Amino acid sequence: MPAHEPVSGAEAVTGAEAVTGAADGAPAGPVPPGTGWPDDPATAATPVARDAAEVRALAAGARTLAELVARQSVCRACPRLVEWREQVAAVKRPSSRGERYWGRPIPGWGDERPAVLIAGLAPAAHGGNRTGRVFTGDRSGDVLFASLYRCGLAAQPTSVVAGDGQRLIRARMVAAVRCAPPANKPTVAERDTCAPWLSAEFARVAGPVEVVVCLGGFAWQAMWPVLRSAGFALPRPRPSFGHGVEARLTAAGGGPGGHGGRQVLLIGCYHPSQQNTFTGRVTPAMLDAVFRRAAAEAGLA
Ligand code: SF4
Repeated sequence: MPAHEPVSGAEAVTGAEAVTGAADGAPAGPVPPGTGWPDDPATAATPVARDAAEVRALAAGARTLAELVARQSVCRACPRLVEWREQVAAVKRPSSRGERYWGRPIPGWGDERPAVLIAGLAPAAHGGNRTGRVFTGDRSGDVLFASLYRCGLAAQPTSVVAGDGQRLIRARMVAAVRCAPPANKPTVAERDTCAPWLSAEFARVAGPVEVVVCLGGFAWQAMWPVLRSAGFALPRPRPSFGHGVEARLTAAGGGPGGHGGRQVLLIGCYHPSQQNTFTGRVTPAMLDAVFRRAAAEAGLA
């Protein structure tokens, strides 16, 4: 496996800079691993995947969840997405010029023994790609975390940036694609290249998972192969994605995930994107209904 190479210059970023946003003149470009960004799971020694085969090998070979998320956070397997995330991190948007951008893949985040898994599409260019944490620092995250807080799944009503004290309660967030894609649209090849990170993470945390909430149709589709590879029998036909649509899956006895007989409830939820919330396609009440249902099903309410 190739040795790690820093993703950009070697300037250190302090926790205070990262949390508060540095003054004008903050370094451009992605954060080198292990240089002090809050909750950065990687170090300069974390191995880097540079193509799909290396994603598969590094995902399968991670010995712990911590090692897995560290490897996710330095991945460079999709050239188009690497170029985009780093270009956004270098150019920034005008209102964030004084901040350093994370500019790397967004690893899974939250409870290491979750009862509720929340699956999204991909980080936003000026959201997770800026703040270093999934669904953090953008309007989607604002709406989502406010709902999670009301439903007892998050410790704070806001999620501003890595290191802000936010914490998920018996819940974990993952993205089907870990890098911010142009126009929020990853290609099929990029989705498939990233899939082993999601499968390996699910395999690591699935033991106590009772409910998987899929935010949007992309995440709904992405979870089927993950659940199948974990040993769950998929319904035939598979239900189409919709808000509040549910599917209860049972693990086959002796399945590869060792979950024989266990059940998981899959729940569809419209993505709290700016467009969906602005048009009223999804409202705070609709999100609350899904997460209250998920918390109750998981025995958390
Ligand atoms: S999208 Fe996934 S596989 Fe592609 S570079 Fe990012 S982390 Fe790696």
